[in-house]
Amino acid sequence: MDSWELKVLEMPPSDKAKIPVANVKDHTAIISLHDVSPAFEDDVVASCDRLADLGVSSFTLLVVPMYALKRSNSFERFPIFSEYLQSLDLEISLHGYSHSTKSGSLDEFARMDSKRVDTRIRSGARTIADTLGQEPYGFVPPLWQAPKRVAKAVRKAGLNYCVIGNRIHSFLDSQILRTTDILVSQGVKGTSFASSLLEIELGGPVQLAVHPRDYDETQALDLVEEMKDRLGYRFIGYRDLLSSL
Ligand SMILES: [Zn+2]
Repeated sequence: MDSWELKVLEMPPSDKAKIPVANVKDHTAIISLHDVSPAFEDDVVASCDRLADLGVSSFTLLVVPMYALKRSNSFERFPIFSEYLQSLDLEISLHGYSHSTKSGSLDEFARMDSKRVDTRIRSGARTIADTLGQEPYGFVPPLWQAPKRVAKAVRKAGLNYCVIGNRIHSFLDSQILRTTDILVSQGVKGTSFASSLLEIELGGPVQLAVHPRDYDETQALDLVEEMKDRLGYRFIGYRDLLSSL
């Protein structure tokens, strides 16, 4: 098996901390199941089953502790679902606190000051620890978008990485890993696979999101199959990628 080793590409001269930036290896797809919440229980289970059928054994569960700020979506009300998720033995990471703002915007953290960001990250991490039996390993914001203060808050809360756009900030060894493109799954407004397809044909490293609702639409999952069988991609979750370096 090839190693996941990375080549350091640049040391930004202006960056005081001199954080090295490295490209993730070609033909790597960092794969995650987004929006893991009791709100989508059946589709989460179906998506996990399909990924297992496709032979994808490493992927990240991106958990939302209080989807849409509704108590009816909290994990403590769904002990069987919580047990099921733990039984999968996969990486569990935090994916926002509520995922959306009260006004429905998906950019949860855009208008929040540092203090509120800190509180949400800590409270989200604690809720996951209490209901799913483990601290979340890292953090991926909704739509991969968040101001830089979110990465600071995630580091302060003791998590191991924070993704912003195509950069994975690793706090294990203070480096940034970069993918060439972001691949959003179907169902998110304003995104399409088309622009990412060329990158995939060329074998570029990507982040691939499967959303539970894709289970019905299947486009993302069909793409996983094609990337694996025809294009030779390897699939791995964020934690497993970082811990293999
Ligand atoms: Zn999401």
